[in-house]
Amino acid sequence: MRVLVVEDSPKTASLLKRGLEEEGYAVDVAASGKDAVWMAAEYPNDAIVLDVGLPDLDGFEVCRQIREGGTWSPILMLTALDAVHDRVRGLDVGADDYLTKPFAFTELTARLRALIRRGAAERPAVLAAGDLTLDPSTRVVRRGDIAIDLTAKEFSLLEFFLRHPGEVLTRMRLIEHVWDFAYDGGSNVVDVYVKYLREKIDRPFGANSIRTVRGAGYRLDAG
Ligand code: CA
Repeated sequence: MRVLVVEDSPKTASLLKRGLEEEGYAVDVAASGKDAVWMAAEYPNDAIVLDVGLPDLDGFEVCRQIREGGTWSPILMLTALDAVHDRVRGLDVGADDYLTKPFAFTELTARLRALIRRGAAERPAVLAAGDLTLDPSTRVVRRGDIAIDLTAKEFSLLEFFLRHPGEVLTRMRLIEHVWDFAYDGGSNVVDVYVKYLREKIDRPFGANSIRTVRGAGYRLDAG
């Protein structure tokens, strides 16, 4: 099993390398975020141990770029900060697990074994319409390079549109798929949420991807 260790501190990196080699792993070390992204794309590996604190790109950005490059090996993030939002952020950008520094080496190897057992799980493909993209696994929505913050309901609505590009979707159909069956408000809730969505994904970008189809419903332009 080959592991890529991403850590800029030479001392920690060599401790990890030595420890993992003693466990029988082949270990490559990247000392910067850019090297890590390059090495992850260039060399096969079975897992990546990724420190969040790096001199150039931070670990979150490295993780995002590694996933963007199509490498799906499990990623174990090392964070010095025991902050919930950091863990969530790590998982959001495509990390599989995290470990807070300082950690016991035995815990690192246990987590690593579990991740490698699970293997590289390819995430569902990113949904796209033109330069608008939605990643169902990381729940990141972007217009071009710009990340867009959506509420859970807005996200579900956009996901449904993106799964049915070019189709006219009636308000009833949208309600059935995006709202749960306990919902019994009026169908104008769809109009309200479409308006919210347009304010976030279209208007700031001068786009017009969600079209109103008079008397029928809405249609997302495939782009
Ligand atoms: Ca570091």
